[in-house]
Amino acid sequence: MPSNVSLEHNPVVRLSYGLAALGQGDRLIPWTFERRELRPNDIAVKIQFCGVCHSDLHAIRGSSRFPLVPGHEIVGEVTAIGANVRKFQIGDTVVVGTIVDSCGHCSSCKRQLEQYCREGVTTTYDGIDRFDGSITHGGYSNEYVVDTHFTYHMPTGLDPASVAPLLCAGVTTWSSLRQWDVTGKTIGIVGLGGLGHMAVKFAHALGAQVTLFSTSEDKLADAKALGADAAILSTDETQMAAQASRFDFILDTVSDRHPLDPYLRSLKLDGTLCCLGIPKSMDFSPFLLTTGRRRIASSGVGGTLETQEMLDFCGRHNIVADVEVIAAADINEGFERLERGEVRYRLVIDMATLNALPKDAA
Ligand SMILES: [Zn+2]
Ligand SMILES: [Zn+2]
Repeated sequence: MPSNVSLEHNPVVRLSYGLAALGQGDRLIPWTFERRELRPNDIAVKIQFCGVCHSDLHAIRGSSRFPLVPGHEIVGEVTAIGANVRKFQIGDTVVVGTIVDSCGHCSSCKRQLEQYCREGVTTTYDGIDRFDGSITHGGYSNEYVVDTHFTYHMPTGLDPASVAPLLCAGVTTWSSLRQWDVTGKTIGIVGLGGLGHMAVKFAHALGAQVTLFSTSEDKLADAKALGADAAILSTDETQMAAQASRFDFILDTVSDRHPLDPYLRSLKLDGTLCCLGIPKSMDFSPFLLTTGRRRIASSGVGGTLETQEMLDFCGRHNIVADVEVIAAADINEGFERLERGEVRYRLVIDMATLNALPKDAA
């Protein structure tokens, strides 16, 4: 048994096994660790699939708490339930996203907008458990233990691997498209990656007129296949100039710093540019806000109400992410491909392949 595990001496933990970065910027390796034993409102989930999010890569490179087990787009099967659990039964297929706890009593939590909890949320990984102070470890692992308030039934009839990315890339775009009520409006979406491709699908299904902006010529045809009415090469100044004052709302999913003025000019009077990508700083001319009473906004992931609403919508409209399923052994190469922009449009790890890895390479 590895030195970081002490199950024999601690009956309130269960062993988990997954992929971890032991230090900042490290490659992921197999790692055995402890999770809490179930509390009365908890379930244990045997993880089948976990999506690979750009923020996983940021967390590995950033000032996170290490060892870090990333992953917050989880699909799995319930294998154990706590004493108070009525919402799920053993054998149910469930999904878990980016948030696993919040204060439960602030004004945001009372509205089920837990992502804006005034005391801060407990994130699925690199978070601090509100009861025992332990560090949360994510879904790149064989099992997760979670409070049922932050767990959802998987919509029936959808492919489980393709559902996983709905829990971060999906609900993040869903939340803003619903908040700005895009139905019947003319909207733009900037960038066709994990978030952008979900935004195109949702906006189209919600009845918006959708234009996709991309710097990659080869993504323009993809955008139309995903449901965009038009697709524009954002590096083409003539095409961009022709978009002036056309849009009610533009959802910008690009995380790298980039000029916002071309998109601000494309907004109508009172239009909103919502930036989900969180670049380090924003490049724009305040004058363009003044001349069209335009707004720049942002928005977080979804709360429990919106997440359930999105999952129900996906079930009704048969919407899932476009995914490529990879083996656990291929995660480091997967990150490299993600960085090079080669992923169409989300990697998902098949967690059954964890068993093929050598145990405790650490
Ligand atoms: Zn994410
Ligand atoms: Zn709260």
